[in-house]
Amino acid sequence: MTHEKILVIDFGGQYNQLIARRVREHKIYCEVKSYKTPIEEIRNMNPKGIIFTGGPNSVYLDNSPRMDREIFELGVPILGICYGAQFLVYGLGGKIEEANDTAEFGRTDCEFDKKSLIFKNLKKKSVVWMSHNDHIATLPEGFRAVGHSEKCPYGAIENAEKKFYGVQFHPEVNHTEEGFAMLGNFLYNVCGCKGDWTMEEYAQTAIREIREKVGGGKALLALSGGVDSSVACKLLAKAIGSQLTCIFVDHGLMRKNEGDEVEEAFAGSGVNFVRVNAGERFLGKLKGVTEPEAKRKIIGEEFIRVFEEEAKKIGKVDFLVQGTIYPDVIESGLGDAAVIKSHHNVGGLPDYVDFKEIIEPLRMLFKDEVRKLGIALGLDEKLVWRQPFPGPGLAIRIIGDITPEKVTLLQDADAIFREEIAAAHLDRDINQYFAVLTNMRSVGVMGDGRTYDYTLALRGVSTTDFMTADFSRIPYDVLEKVSTRIVNEVKHINRIVYDITSKPPATIEWE
Ligand code: GLN
Repeated sequence: MTHEKILVIDFGGQYNQLIARRVREHKIYCEVKSYKTPIEEIRNMNPKGIIFTGGPNSVYLDNSPRMDREIFELGVPILGICYGAQFLVYGLGGKIEEANDTAEFGRTDCEFDKKSLIFKNLKKKSVVWMSHNDHIATLPEGFRAVGHSEKCPYGAIENAEKKFYGVQFHPEVNHTEEGFAMLGNFLYNVCGCKGDWTMEEYAQTAIREIREKVGGGKALLALSGGVDSSVACKLLAKAIGSQLTCIFVDHGLMRKNEGDEVEEAFAGSGVNFVRVNAGERFLGKLKGVTEPEAKRKIIGEEFIRVFEEEAKKIGKVDFLVQGTIYPDVIESGLGDAAVIKSHHNVGGLPDYVDFKEIIEPLRMLFKDEVRKLGIALGLDEKLVWRQPFPGPGLAIRIIGDITPEKVTLLQDADAIFREEIAAAHLDRDINQYFAVLTNMRSVGVMGDGRTYDYTLALRGVSTTDFMTADFSRIPYDVLEKVSTRIVNEVKHINRIVYDITSKPPATIEWE
């Protein structure tokens, strides 16, 4: 089945994938292509509509990105956003100039002509997000203004006959109050899309593309058990089955039962699944180590060593699969495929694994889309909704030295905490929550006898980006239940505290 398709033409803007994501949210298939893409290729893609992104350049300068003017003769509707709008105007013979003291950045009030198809049924006045140094000075023939701000007379423009639209602001960001609806209006009212696309179909397309790319070759994946690598693994399993080997290094510092859950999800899925139970080996290396950075380093290095040993047994592979998602791509420098982020604790991996090419099937997706894809692929919900977990695992949630007994103790306590949070239906509201085994012991009284046992700390935070976080206001009765259960069910914990610091000044993890 061929789907209606929207083409996003990349002029180097900050929010290009966000535009693509919004189009997907409107249930329309979407691809992002460079402005250098030949017109022939664009014609062959047969898009229902084209969106020009923003970009850092000034369109009137010599070396700024521009497309062949034939793009305006395809008979396909176009929406230009910021630089994209400026290019649309410039390309059709209008004029762009430096805005000087009328440049706008951030929150701006705008007024719209509701007769324009892209503002149909929306508010006459709403807030938009601006970010421009240049502005439209003269419109090309056939265009009219359909939106303005105090400083910007051409905040939105249209040539309804040709189905060309331009907005100086960014409809794709959340700060633009009605931006999502405006995009929807363009997609549905102007381009005539019906919204025939789903994540199930994204999965099908991705599977087909992976098959084409891999052919008869072999691929290797390091599975951490986290959401991203699990979804990548499931996708590859469906696409190439036994041509994929995935190596799951279980360092013995996962949450309770997690290693087995990962194995259950993948062992029978047709891939070559290798689980290395390296718990003893890791604990051996960690013996007596108390310094947090030293723990992290030891685990990172040991992880690579174990993975290397296993990879050597397999020999040369054609592809290395990584669960990189879009926010990682941004962080590691957009579009530079050569930069490989140290992922899931596998820093430096490509140096010693012999492979030809990297596959990153989640590269264009945001975290919540990865989860949706996981569901569409039939991945166990437990894995799909797994909260973020640090690569070094429980090692950095056991303050001080690590022993097998402490690991079990923390696993049990943490599992109870998670059970009760889920039972209170808070598991999707609190972004991350876990137990920490402090290195402190204190006196208690149990069964009329004196105890001298560990203090356990509970942590729960709400955050959107994990860069800053606030502690979660978990209801006292939930905390009470957790506390009672843990001291009753887990031996050697006789005191429980709740961490009420935000980040900053604290961090989410304790080490
Ligand atoms: N560089 C152009 C300007 O400053 C476009 C900016 C943008 O696309 N956000 O006006």
